[in-house]
Amino acid sequence: MAELVQRYLDEILAEHRDSTEGRLADYIPELATVDPSGFAVSLQLTDGFVYESGDTATEFTIQSISKPFTYALALERAGFDAVDARIGVEPTGEAFNEISVDHRTKAPKNAMINAGAIAAASLMPGSTPQARFECILDFYSACAGRTLEVDEDVYRSEKATGSRNRAIAYMLQSFGMLDGDPDEALDVYTRQCAIRVTSTDLARMASTLARGGRNPQSGQRVLSGAVVQRTLAVMMTCGMYDATGNWVSSVGMPAKSGVGGGLLTVLPGQLGIGVYSPRLDDTGNSVRGAKVCRSLSARLGLHFLSVSRESRSIIRATRDVAAGVRVYELHGDLLFTGAEQALRTVEEDSADIEVVILEVSGVDDSNDVARSMLAGMRESLRRAGKEGCLVDPDRTVLTAGSASDAVVYSTVEEALAAVLDRRGR
Ligand code: GLU
Repeated sequence: MAELVQRYLDEILAEHRDSTEGRLADYIPELATVDPSGFAVSLQLTDGFVYESGDTATEFTIQSISKPFTYALALERAGFDAVDARIGVEPTGEAFNEISVDHRTKAPKNAMINAGAIAAASLMPGSTPQARFECILDFYSACAGRTLEVDEDVYRSEKATGSRNRAIAYMLQSFGMLDGDPDEALDVYTRQCAIRVTSTDLARMASTLARGGRNPQSGQRVLSGAVVQRTLAVMMTCGMYDATGNWVSSVGMPAKSGVGGGLLTVLPGQLGIGVYSPRLDDTGNSVRGAKVCRSLSARLGLHFLSVSRESRSIIRATRDVAAGVRVYELHGDLLFTGAEQALRTVEEDSADIEVVILEVSGVDDSNDVARSMLAGMRESLRRAGKEGCLVDPDRTVLTAGSASDAVVYSTVEEALAAVLDRRGR
C-alpha cells in the first residue's frame, strides 16, 4: 500500500526534474560549487514513517532553515519575554539580508531575516561562542535524530565574505539589541548556517515540529508545545522571504527555505517535508523545491486552510442505564468544540437526569481546555444535587496530574454500581 504514496512522490519529482530555472547562490562562493542537478524529497509522517525520492543521501548546508530552530531554542531556553524584547514577529516583505529593524523598538522585525537570526543566536546559553554553538548543534541533531556536522568549507567561505551580516550584527549592537561581541554572535550564526543536512534530516526536523516538539522516531521531547506554536506562526508569516504571501496562498504550510537549496515545510499534527534542489529564484527560494511543495499540497490536499469536513459530532450514542442515569459515549477528538457540544447536550437533557456518565474510551485526544470544561460540568451538576463521572479505562482524557477529585471508572457497569450505591439505591 505504501507504494501508492511512494509513486506520488516519484511522479512529482519526475514532473519537475527537467526544470533548470534559477541559479545557484554565489554570494557565498562555496555554494556556487555544488552540483546544480541535485534533487530530492522526503516526507515523514508524525508516526515516524518516512518516504524518500531522489538524491536523499546528498548533504547540503541548512543555511536559513536553521533560523526557526535557533529561534525555537532561544524561546525555550531564554523564555518568551527575553526573546520578544529582542526580536519581533512581524513580516517585513523585505529580502532576507535587509539591513533593517523596527523603527520604533529598534528590534529586528522577525527571526526569519538575518538580523533576527543573529539576535537569536546571541541569546543561546553558554559562556563562549563554542559552547553556544554546541548547544545549537546538539539541538538540531536531536530534531533530526542523528549527529549533524558542520561543512567547514562553506563556513569559512561565508565568514570570509559576510560583510553584510557583519554590518547587521554591529547595527544590532549599536541599538542595544545584542549583548556581547557582535563578531561572536555572527560566528555562531555563520556556523549554524553551515550545518550539513539531507532532505530526510529536514523532513525529520519538520515532523518534530509537526508533532508539537516531540521527535517522532526517538520519542524525545525537544520543545514545548507553546514554543512550537510560536515558531510555526512566524514561519507561516515570514518563512519564505518576500514571497511569503504567495506561498501561503498556494502551498498553505508553514515553511522555511535556505540559500543552500533546502526547503522545509510542516503540516501541524500530520507530517513534515524536506526538499532539496539548489537552483534559486530571485527571492532566494529553491525553484524546483517550491514547485514540488506546490504539487504536493495540491495533489495530497495539504493546504492547512482547506476545510475538508465539518467536525463530526463528539457524541456517538446516549443510553439510559437506570432511572435518571444517562451514559454519553464520546468519540474522536475531545477538544474545545467537542467539550462544548457535550456540555450543551447535558444541559439540554438536565431535566431528565440525575447522573451523567461520560464514557470516553473512544476519545483519541483531549486537551487542558476540554478537561477543565468537563470539571466545570461536574461542578455544576454537583451544585444542582446531581453528579457526573467518567469512564476512562485508558486515562486518555484524565491523564496523570489531572484534577484528583474527578471520579473515574474503568467500565460503565463499575460506574453504575458505585453511583447507585452512593445514591442509596
Ligand atoms: N547564511 C546565509 C546568510 O546569512 C543564509 C541566507 C539564507 O539561507 O537565506 O546570508
